[in-house]
Amino acid sequence: MLDIDWIVERLREKNAKLVGVQLPDGLKYKSDEIAKCLESRGFKVIISGSGCYGACDIDLDLLKEVDALLHFAHTPIFEFENVIYVPYRIDYDVNDFRRLKIEEKKIALIASAQYAWKLEEVKRVLEEIGHEVELKKGSSRVKMPGQVLGCNYTVLRNSKAEAVLFVGDGLFHPIGAKIYTGKKVYRYSPLDREFEEVEVEDFLRRRMLSVSKAMDAERGAILVSKKIGQKRMGLAMKLKKMADEVGRRVDVIYLDEITPEKLANFLYGYYVNTACPRISYDDFELFRVPILTPQEFEILMGVRSWEEYEMDEIA
Ligand code: SF4
Repeated sequence: MLDIDWIVERLREKNAKLVGVQLPDGLKYKSDEIAKCLESRGFKVIISGSGCYGACDIDLDLLKEVDALLHFAHTPIFEFENVIYVPYRIDYDVNDFRRLKIEEKKIALIASAQYAWKLEEVKRVLEEIGHEVELKKGSSRVKMPGQVLGCNYTVLRNSKAEAVLFVGDGLFHPIGAKIYTGKKVYRYSPLDREFEEVEVEDFLRRRMLSVSKAMDAERGAILVSKKIGQKRMGLAMKLKKMADEVGRRVDVIYLDEITPEKLANFLYGYYVNTACPRISYDDFELFRVPILTPQEFEILMGVRSWEEYEMDEIA
């Protein structure tokens, strides 16, 4: 659901003639259609060919070349004068929520950005069928009530709900919500109308396996991303100091993209990822060696127990 008239209006307000287009990888197939549309309205277009993780990842090089940059499908984390965040919203029928079998009365409602814009309506429907619904605003990194990111579950902080209902696709966010709250979590996907209770055992087993493989390694390195919303140099230095204190040596590597190719020539036995947590959780199978979160590194160093396992969060 892209509103081209809205985009053109914003560009004209900024008097932009040369326009940058930055799309997440899953929407890059639309670049041609969007460029054609903007050109037919009199704009010149340059498309960002770099990877795009989220609003934490603005193409700052392209921004220098254009009058305005259109960043698609993410809610703002940073405000730049010449960046226009273009929402990408998925429409769905809120009446579907009337048939969901949720035993708990008090529910916290959460969603990914594409679905969160309709949560007020979902809340109204759930209240009509007898639930008490918590729909809270999180930290400044998330803009809409109930919105979660793979690195941010602050809408669930101090939740009084008995269970959580996630609206969206995939299992990553609801797994994160379950580990973050320790509560029962349901997932409803409006696209395929799938409803399920979310389990975390397999996820935790895979994480334990990564930590135990890292135990055999002689040397590791802490990775720091140059991306504007993922750079946590302070955390990296703190982790290095912690390792020094327990007599383990780790190096710190500063890089733009954390990919297997970028790490191919290093010989470390494991990495600690301080950038987007999804690199550790979702992409770990692509890497030759374990790629741990900061909390998992604390477990490896013996300063945190498995019982204290937490999701990595950029709050
Ligand atoms: S750090 Fe990762 S999870 Fe967080 S906003 Fe960026 S891409 Fe999304």
